[in-house]
Amino acid sequence: MEKALVLFSGGQDSTTCLAYALERFDHVETLGFDYGQRHAVELTQRGPVLQSIRQQFPHWAKKLGEDHLLDLKVLGQVSDTALTREVGIAMADNGLPNTFVPGRNLVFMTFAAALAFRRGARHLVTGVCETDFSGYPDCRDDTMKALQVALNLGMETRFVIHTPLMWIDKAATWKMAHDLGGDALVELVVEETHTCYLGERQVRHAWGYGCGTCPACALRAKGWEIYRAEA
Ligand code: ZN
Repeated sequence: MEKALVLFSGGQDSTTCLAYALERFDHVETLGFDYGQRHAVELTQRGPVLQSIRQQFPHWAKKLGEDHLLDLKVLGQVSDTALTREVGIAMADNGLPNTFVPGRNLVFMTFAAALAFRRGARHLVTGVCETDFSGYPDCRDDTMKALQVALNLGMETRFVIHTPLMWIDKAATWKMAHDLGGDALVELVVEETHTCYLGERQVRHAWGYGCGTCPACALRAKGWEIYRAEA
């Protein structure tokens, strides 16, 4: 019995990772973090995404276990970024977008491992990606590999960190959703998942809801166009 814990925000990437895990493992639980993100609407989409998966994919529903939400608002106390404050999204002097919360994924993975330890899950699945525009250093493959070693040493266990999106772009992420769950999963991702940094859910595009102009929307829209052109 292989158990997995998926870091699940309710966005496109983590929903695709959830489908990936449901396809591979016997029992899958989900974990979200509330860190005072200004696109909190993303968190509110977690429930509808999980509900739709349960309704539309009965063979996955049997494996889908408990959903966990951890309060990490303390991150807001040590970060001053466009993800947690009402400031414009731009490139900062250090070459990183000001949406970067320093070390956020280090914190996320550590809490995920602590929860997985308690829940008896050996596999941690996260949607981090090096191909992403952002270049967040805590999303890099080397960071994840180093974390896997550190967590296994520190907890004397044998976690495996899975990063199915690490080397693929957004177009390939759409295609992966299709490969895993067909048109029904693509439609679910379009309709229910949230990506927009500004939390916009009034305007519906072919690729889903969002402002259409923030970096997250631009990336999702561009990936959709390429995916549809190749489909
Ligand atoms: Zn947007």
